[in-house]
Amino acid sequence: MTQEDAPLGEFDLIRRFFTDIGAARSDVELGVGDDAALLRMPSGADLVAAVDTIVAGRHFPDGSDPRSIGHRALAVNLSDLAAMGATPAWATLALTLPSVDAGWLERFSRGLSDLAGAHRVALVGGDTTAGHLTVSVQILGHVERGTALRRSGGCAGDLLLVTGTLGDAGAGLALVRASHTTGDAAAAAALIQRFEYPSPRVEFGIAMRGIATAAMDLSDGLAGDLPKLASASGLAAHVDIERLPLSAALSAVTDLQQARDWALGAGDDYELLLAVPPRNCEKAVSIAARLNLRLSAIGELRPGGGVTWALNGRESAPPGQGFDHFRRASTQITV
Ligand code: ADP
Ligand code: MG
Repeated sequence: MTQEDAPLGEFDLIRRFFTDIGAARSDVELGVGDDAALLRMPSGADLVAAVDTIVAGRHFPDGSDPRSIGHRALAVNLSDLAAMGATPAWATLALTLPSVDAGWLERFSRGLSDLAGAHRVALVGGDTTAGHLTVSVQILGHVERGTALRRSGGCAGDLLLVTGTLGDAGAGLALVRASHTTGDAAAAAALIQRFEYPSPRVEFGIAMRGIATAAMDLSDGLAGDLPKLASASGLAAHVDIERLPLSAALSAVTDLQQARDWALGAGDDYELLLAVPPRNCEKAVSIAARLNLRLSAIGELRPGGGVTWALNGRESAPPGQGFDHFRRASTQITV
């Protein structure tokens, strides 16, 4: 048996796949290898922490490319930090594996490592156990004290802006599962890419400090997420459905109604939803342009409570009436 074929012990596995992952950072006093990591916080900063778990068969289809699983596990966490306007720095990984497969681990580790490197995040620790495939990443970062974006800061009259396009990941997942089909192979590939490799809007989130009054990331779909921002801000929200940003790829694979349903209800887009006072909108637009990021105004915050929806100026039924988290297009189950 060659070294390559020998069964990997836990120690070898950690050394081979999870040591020196992501950026080398001078604020990591001690990373993988001891009982805990030692990290140096910049002075005058708040520590920002978030954790998200993705489970095979729930948050991604069984048999998904492990490179995508590694990417998504970190991306969903980076997206949470983006929504706070925080700078990500360190991550820990709790990995539960049904078996040790070196080829699988290699691709998983590459997906994680490429995205970590791109955002200057260092993997500083973790835990490895046997069981149903479950990936839990904790992200740690920092934000200058007093400047973090929250869901609760919105003001009546603020415009609601969203980055990128909505509904692509929902369509991508439906295509992966073959519950939706199309003859347009290029559009299908682009949409599947959006599901498998979400792009957390970290730079834009950081730049929105002092410009947006409130922010959150869209993981569960606008129809599910917007009420959370509105109620945290103690306000009503209004959305004009015809202003939802839809990609050319999405429009190429389906009709407008289905595209809007995915945009509102499918989730997994990991775009940012922001409340921005009209006086700051020009700044937000120019920052988005500099980052090559689409930014669309879709509605506004108003006095009162609840969310209203209109289509071409006519009040519309709340999208996703009878919308059921356990039957939605996304694999994400919110409990
Ligand atoms: P302990 O038993 O003290 O918790 P472990 O033997 O589980 O330590 O882990 C040894 C070291 O390897 C620790 O620094 C831990 O953070 C790190 N580690 C374990 N699993 C992973 C993983 N999947 N990814 C990154 N680091 C890991
Ligand atoms: Mg220990």
